[in-house]
Amino acid sequence: MASARGSARRLFLGLDVGATKTLVLLTQGRQRVLGQQLLTTAARDGPEAVVQQLLSAIDRVLVRVEARRQDVAGVGVGFAGWCDLQGTVLAAPNMTGWRSVPLRAILEELTGVPVAVGNDANMAALAEARMGAGRGFRDLVYVTVSTGIGGGIVAGGRLLMGASGMAGEIGHLVVAPDGPRCGCGSHGCLEAMASGSAIAREAHQRLALAPGSRASPIAAQEVFEWARAGDRGAQEVITRASRFLGIGLRNVVNLLNPQAIVIGGGLSQQWKEYVEPALQVMRAAASGGDEREVQVLPAALGERSTALGAILWLQRVLRHTARS
Ligand SMILES: [Zn+2]
Repeated sequence: MASARGSARRLFLGLDVGATKTLVLLTQGRQRVLGQQLLTTAARDGPEAVVQQLLSAIDRVLVRVEARRQDVAGVGVGFAGWCDLQGTVLAAPNMTGWRSVPLRAILEELTGVPVAVGNDANMAALAEARMGAGRGFRDLVYVTVSTGIGGGIVAGGRLLMGASGMAGEIGHLVVAPDGPRCGCGSHGCLEAMASGSAIAREAHQRLALAPGSRASPIAAQEVFEWARAGDRGAQEVITRASRFLGIGLRNVVNLLNPQAIVIGGGLSQQWKEYVEPALQVMRAAASGGDEREVQVLPAALGERSTALGAILWLQRVLRHTARS
């Protein structure tokens, strides 16, 4: 690993804090990655435990490249929850105890450097737009499909935050008003109909009805494997989820008229079986004809997208602070 000695205040930390895993990324300048660490998030242990985890991970990454906290210009955080413009985590449905936690203020106090906090999918959208699959597009929508569904909107080259930082919640577009309850409290959100957990739940319910079925929970990945092996039930579950994804994307296209849609997340690996049929649904009904043709691209930055985006977001905040 490269040594960072002598690079006073030139280093940036990007943190991707997810309900399952946390990635800590150390870069020099915009995107030269010097070091990284992946850890299991202490999601059940409350905010204090997670913050301690982050600080230890930061120190370990710095030590490995022979850098010190004083060399760090700031910390960008992409967090798996609702974050406001002040960097407070308002809620994180899959983590215990995260209600109105002023994460930016806490980390600034503990690290002594500027910190920027945003929603993880928004941060990933920014990274894909600036240095990933969406480079060169000024109007694009990023959608990540894994256990849940998230998104981010880049309009006119800028990340759209909305009035209080909540823009881009594509996963909570309602696509089936009578559908099952979503983690957000609403019913039939895209996330409740088309995400990995929705696919797993649907397959589990179908199997529970079958005689001699297994009672244990199912992972979405298994459903795709069964579908490939020719299981009709599994194929139907995927077709249904894919159709809802298409309906959600169609709403996005009709509302925002983006040049491109970038799709990432674990389920985007199932491009042929899951994404492609959704695009057919989207294109069949997105009105307006050729002039509204949208390019759809797989995300390019993989697991680093949120951490890299958080660094870009931090750098933007630092530029604004320098100017004012
Ligand atoms: Zn929802």
